[in-house]
Amino acid sequence: MINEKIQQRIRELAEQYRPAYEEVCHEIFLHPEEGLKEFFAADYITGRLQEAGFRITRPAGGLETAFIAEYGEGHPRLALLAEYDALPGYGPLKDQWGHACGHNWIAANTWGTAMIMKDLLDEGLVSGTICYVGCPAEETIGGKVNLAEAGCFDDMDAAVQIHIGSGSGAYVGGHALALNGIEVTYHGVSSHAAGAPERGVNALDAAYLTFDGVNALRQHVTPDVRMHGVIINGGLAPNVVPALAVSRWEVRAAERATVDELERKFLNIVQGACLMTGATSEWKYFENKFDNCVNIAELNELFGQGFAFAGEAEIHTEPRGGSGSTDVGNVSMVCPTAFSHLGVGNTDGSGAHQEEFLPHCDGPEAYAALFRAVLAQTYFCAGIAADQDLQARLSAYKQKLPHWQKTEQPQ
Ligand SMILES: [Zn+2]
Ligand SMILES: [Zn+2]
Repeated sequence: MINEKIQQRIRELAEQYRPAYEEVCHEIFLHPEEGLKEFFAADYITGRLQEAGFRITRPAGGLETAFIAEYGEGHPRLALLAEYDALPGYGPLKDQWGHACGHNWIAANTWGTAMIMKDLLDEGLVSGTICYVGCPAEETIGGKVNLAEAGCFDDMDAAVQIHIGSGSGAYVGGHALALNGIEVTYHGVSSHAAGAPERGVNALDAAYLTFDGVNALRQHVTPDVRMHGVIINGGLAPNVVPALAVSRWEVRAAERATVDELERKFLNIVQGACLMTGATSEWKYFENKFDNCVNIAELNELFGQGFAFAGEAEIHTEPRGGSGSTDVGNVSMVCPTAFSHLGVGNTDGSGAHQEEFLPHCDGPEAYAALFRAVLAQTYFCAGIAADQDLQARLSAYKQKLPHWQKTEQPQ
């Protein structure tokens, strides 16, 4: 619980900065950009934060459109996980980019919180450093994976993000699945499929026998497991035995350790399919490995208080079904992280990534939710920055995270 004075200042500043963060939401919505090419967004946000006195480090994690903008001194160092990449395939010809996952809205709520925290720091009401972390390409490579691997979150005490969602209510807690994306290339021998089939080794057979193997494995996995694949190259002509086939798979589960174990079984299936057909294979990851979200009950509770402070009528702290994966999970392995979704209101049944969801990510209803998100997120950050006992507990939580457990084990 933060004191009345801080609460009152957060409310005043959230009103004061309201036109400014609505403008951030709108400007980025008007300039949808592909992951890793978000140059407008990165220039625009760093420009505005620099004007406000933030120190900018760019690039970050080796990515040109990633950056860290920080204000203040010392600990706690709080990371606001901003995003600003868009999605393709909208408009009458389905050739336009759009912010159908509302990352413009995330860029804006983190910006609003950064500005209010700056003022609270200047006024001596809280202490520490507020860090606006520009995380590109959430929809494609998962830029936070690169940032986490480069150590950008090692010195952070907590990280936070609020994602826009459909319907109503705030959903506190990250329920994202860990994921490995595996591409398998099968090599065979081509021959005339009718004239000399005995000379051929069918790479496509090995690819689809892998599907059969995975389907047999499905019966013996826990309910959280998802294994889904496509064949992206299955040969070109039916009268030629395919000498090359390529499939892509995503293997997901609630825990990183489960995914690693499933990967081992999956690769055994690939090997079996190759033995059956005489094909050979090689594999690689075709995208970053995403980790599950580690939840810290005390942080989720503080986040829930933040949403109550923001006047949110419906606050859920129980896991919500139907979970995908997010690179926020990788941050949560390194640094205590709080993640949530905030419903923007009635979206007529449409959800993130749908064309119908686009208008809900900018405009009056998006701005109303944005205001509540800024209040809740700032309450969360101020709640840490004003509480030294909580900061000490955060450092204990951090030591217990899987990443630090792994690196601290004796050799
Ligand atoms: Zn998305
Ligand atoms: Zn998203």
